[in-house]
Amino acid sequence: MKYVDEFRDAALARNLAAKIAAEVQPQRRYHFMEFCGGHTHAIARYGLAELLPASVRMIHGPGCPVCVLPIGRIDQAIHLALERGAIVCTYGDTLRVPASGGLSMMKAKARGADIRMVYSAADALKVARANPVREVVFFAIGFETTTPPTALVLRQAKAEGLKNFSVLCCHVLTPAAITHILQGPGVGPAGDVPLDGFIGPAHVSIVIGYAPYVPFALGYQKPVVISGFEPLDVMQSILMLVRQVNEGRAEVENEFTRAVSADGNRAAQAVMDEVFEHREVFEWRGLGEVPDSALRIRPAYAEFDAEVRFGLCYQGVPDHKQCACGEILRGRKVPTDCKLFGTVCTPENPMGSCMVSSEGACAAHYAYGRFRDIPVVAA
Ligand code: SF4
Repeated sequence: MKYVDEFRDAALARNLAAKIAAEVQPQRRYHFMEFCGGHTHAIARYGLAELLPASVRMIHGPGCPVCVLPIGRIDQAIHLALERGAIVCTYGDTLRVPASGGLSMMKAKARGADIRMVYSAADALKVARANPVREVVFFAIGFETTTPPTALVLRQAKAEGLKNFSVLCCHVLTPAAITHILQGPGVGPAGDVPLDGFIGPAHVSIVIGYAPYVPFALGYQKPVVISGFEPLDVMQSILMLVRQVNEGRAEVENEFTRAVSADGNRAAQAVMDEVFEHREVFEWRGLGEVPDSALRIRPAYAEFDAEVRFGLCYQGVPDHKQCACGEILRGRKVPTDCKLFGTVCTPENPMGSCMVSSEGACAAHYAYGRFRDIPVVAA
């Protein structure tokens, strides 16, 4: 297959691994965060961690959109469906994220809530057109990747004068989360989360470009390499990061040149700007309240804003006491540090958000890596 198999070539991956092994300096350790869940998934699925020398450690970041969705926001969506009679439409993984009171959107559906899985924001609009006497709410989640389609359906709903459609907007912003991590306690050479650089998001960067990462590289002296999602992309990006660290450079480099430019997709940015504005603060699961890290619908589109339309107030809800998702999303723990991993918490019965999506650190490790943790014994 053209353009995919080329980036999964095992011999080339081993060559890159040999180059990384040859270039790491013996006295040094390298800690790189892959911000994006897609990279976490690729690293687990293709066993890339095993190809790396022991001195290179990959740290999972908070870039899985389902993982960072706080319980209080899911509760709002369930409230709209169960108590306000709305049809709530959302992406598939969102349905299984644990919410308050032992519920999830899937369990609320089993209790009679009209909650529907959609593949796109445009599908939610179709549901609204097909059900003119029902309120239809699109529960919109995700980073800058999924934000432009939500903006487009809001513009379309306004153009059509739809009276029964609104959006519960939970779109979040990548650069703010990276800043939050870099400003967090314990990040740095002497802290509990040493960070020497970032593998930058792929899909997000297609939209926003790579220029927004320059302040991290310069201000915090952390190299960033924007990387594609295929295994060779990730290995090449790690090599580029190792070289930057060795040479004392902290720059933004773009490995994913086949899709990412400096400025990104200007048309997508324009429609996002037209429809959304920044929230002062937004709660992220695991990261807490992060300033200037999410979007809300502009007043010009207020009639399509579910928070305004239904008079919703946000109420934060703490995670399950034993769930370590928060610390995993901050790079302080790995999935097997959580007492619930693989026993009480599995992909079939997730207790925390990191076990829901295949991009979550716990789900990726459960699917592709958990047997590595079991010692091999002679028969
Ligand atoms: S194993 Fe489950 S409960 Fe533990 S950190 Fe992962 S998702 Fe959270």
